[in-house]
Amino acid sequence: MKRLHLFRLFALSFALGAAANIFGQQIQFIAIDYPGADADRFRSADEPSIGGLTGSSRPEAMSARLLLLLAIHAFAMSAELDRLVARAKSLVEEIRECDVVILRDPLDLLPYLLRLGYNRQVALATIAEVRHLAEFTINHHFPIFVNAGSPHTQRILRSWQEGQFPEEAARVMAADLFHEYLHAAKGREECDAIRGHLTLLKRWRDEDLLHIAGPYIEAKASELRRMGCQPE
Ligand SMILES: [Zn+2]
Repeated sequence: MKRLHLFRLFALSFALGAAANIFGQQIQFIAIDYPGADADRFRSADEPSIGGLTGSSRPEAMSARLLLLLAIHAFAMSAELDRLVARAKSLVEEIRECDVVILRDPLDLLPYLLRLGYNRQVALATIAEVRHLAEFTINHHFPIFVNAGSPHTQRILRSWQEGQFPEEAARVMAADLFHEYLHAAKGREECDAIRGHLTLLKRWRDEDLLHIAGPYIEAKASELRRMGCQPE
């Protein structure tokens, strides 16, 4: 999985390099420079740079290269999250056709809220409220939003990319999406949504399809108790 991920990253970097070429001479050096960028990081600062990498020691060239690398990384992460969500949706019949929107930035929620009739001030307050949530719906309606930057989403993504059981990481994401589906499609309140969420996680665990979610299942069960919900 990791090797595959690295390969994708390089494929993307070359694609971006080719794109940079199209945009002309001014940024061409960044694209050509890219393969050397990694080598630069592992070379002592005193060593001369490889011939032909003109301008690579200029601070602006360095920061441009760093920005390009960061952009490539963000682009690759974003594509991986798309794949993770697509895989998760395919694992549960009910959510297969659900509208799921990945928010790369919490502020990407703004146009949705304005369209729902929120004024700007209330919309911004709502964004501040939900920015820490991994997944959520607005007033129990589709789409299901996924906050790409939330710690929970990032943890699942790392498990999907680097863990031993990427398929199980997709199941954790699928159960999260199922929770939101219960709000949006069935109008279920929190207790019912957590119960449904937990039931799905436990079913997969008992079917030997999910070994990595023990602590998560525990956390969901104690959330249910903490909220004073009826047990499953
Ligand atoms: Zn909920």
